[in-house]
Amino acid sequence: MRAACPGAASRAMELAGGWCALSLWLLLCRLPAPGAAAPAQSAGSVAVGKFWHVSDLHLDPTYHITGDHTKVCSSSKGANASNPGPFGDFFCDSPYQLILSAFKYMNESEQQVSFMIWTGDSPPHVPVEELSTKMVINVIGNMTSTIQSFFPDLQVFPALGNHDYWPQDQLPVSASEVYSAVANFWKPWLTDEAISTFKKGGFYTQLFQSSVSPQPLRIISLNTNLYYSPNHVTLNITDPANQLAWLESTLEISLQKKEKVYVIGHVPIGYLPFARNTTAIRGYYNEKLVKIFRKYSDVIAGQFFGHTHRDSIMILLDEKENPINSLFVAPAVTPVKSVLQRESNNPGVRLYQYDPLQYSLLVFISLHSSHGLHWPPIHMPPNGAWGKDLWQFYLNLTDANMKNESNWKLEYILTKAYGIEDLKPENLYEMAKQFTVPHSKLFQQYYNNFIVSYDKSIVCEGDCKTSQICAMQYLDNSFYTDCIQRG
Ligand SMILES: [Zn+2]
Ligand SMILES: [Zn+2]
Repeated sequence: MRAACPGAASRAMELAGGWCALSLWLLLCRLPAPGAAAPAQSAGSVAVGKFWHVSDLHLDPTYHITGDHTKVCSSSKGANASNPGPFGDFFCDSPYQLILSAFKYMNESEQQVSFMIWTGDSPPHVPVEELSTKMVINVIGNMTSTIQSFFPDLQVFPALGNHDYWPQDQLPVSASEVYSAVANFWKPWLTDEAISTFKKGGFYTQLFQSSVSPQPLRIISLNTNLYYSPNHVTLNITDPANQLAWLESTLEISLQKKEKVYVIGHVPIGYLPFARNTTAIRGYYNEKLVKIFRKYSDVIAGQFFGHTHRDSIMILLDEKENPINSLFVAPAVTPVKSVLQRESNNPGVRLYQYDPLQYSLLVFISLHSSHGLHWPPIHMPPNGAWGKDLWQFYLNLTDANMKNESNWKLEYILTKAYGIEDLKPENLYEMAKQFTVPHSKLFQQYYNNFIVSYDKSIVCEGDCKTSQICAMQYLDNSFYTDCIQRG
């Protein structure tokens, strides 16, 4: 039976062990054979660089359609699924079919990307006793094989999420079974040096030489889960796994070598935009990281996170409130929400455009699903004024389920949606200032994008808007507190 499976899928099948092995096998064997997928490699002659960002896949292998809506998925934790269909449900983590549809769409777009960043969280949100170290390793292995099946030649830079461990959130400060197993999965993407630091602490750095760029880009993949508030392992540790010291020395060397750096990680720094006075990582670590990122802001050309499952932007300011760094939080592929939450997100993936000389960000594109493949032409400004941008794509889950069609589509292009030239910190800061205008339509657009077009009728005003606006602009305690007090 295994011989009928393509290589990566059969490897994933081996990894699946006894856990829903049959259903995973059936799904995996529908994958295109490696090589059958259209290559999405760097182009050589294009004037902009591009890369994908995916996050928070959260595969739920138990997902299946059944008349008893309490039994559709383990991740609903006994709650009724709301409207289960082939691509998922808002009370469930991702069915494998949803994850396949996302990568298939990205693949078929034939975007000439240089690389992909993947910011973690592969296992489902289920009670601790329903998972194990083996299951968590299996899911990460499956997701790695899935990405490799669609993009066999693409460089991927992954980061670990707080769910990529068992028990969840408790990522350790030294070598572990999970770090070691995951390092093996990621060997095709990472250098020996990167693998070696990853095995010790779940983080690494690696240079990337793009065919569209005269100079290499340094990726720093942080294990920010070591700073995540629910991680008891690192309580009272000043510098878990010595990652902060390592980060500073890595950035110092980059500064001396005049390199440009992208920082990637799972749990973002700064304040949560949907809560009040709450940082995702412990306040102590947040202050430390903000200080480091301010010091090396000339080197850092962009920062990319996941974890919140929502689409948000932050601008790092220096002590004099000058914008010095752009930070992006990509929305999740999983649409899951808890029964206590008013809103969720449609599944999303995104594409960035960058300036191949400075690696500053031009544009981004956010994808969600809709009617067939509608790839808009990429706007190329004249005279080398490359539009560093972000294109966000999404799947309208309700519509996709109704039509039984994975109609991913463009959700918005950041520069066009907000009328800015590119994603440089000064332009994003100007954009944030415009959002503060009472009843700003631009801000309402931002909020609709924040929830990945989940429900356009949801309005964010008053305290909701204040939290969003303050979190967007102020990442350290003193500035953020002042902003909240101003109201
Ligand atoms: Zn997540
Ligand atoms: Zn997470």
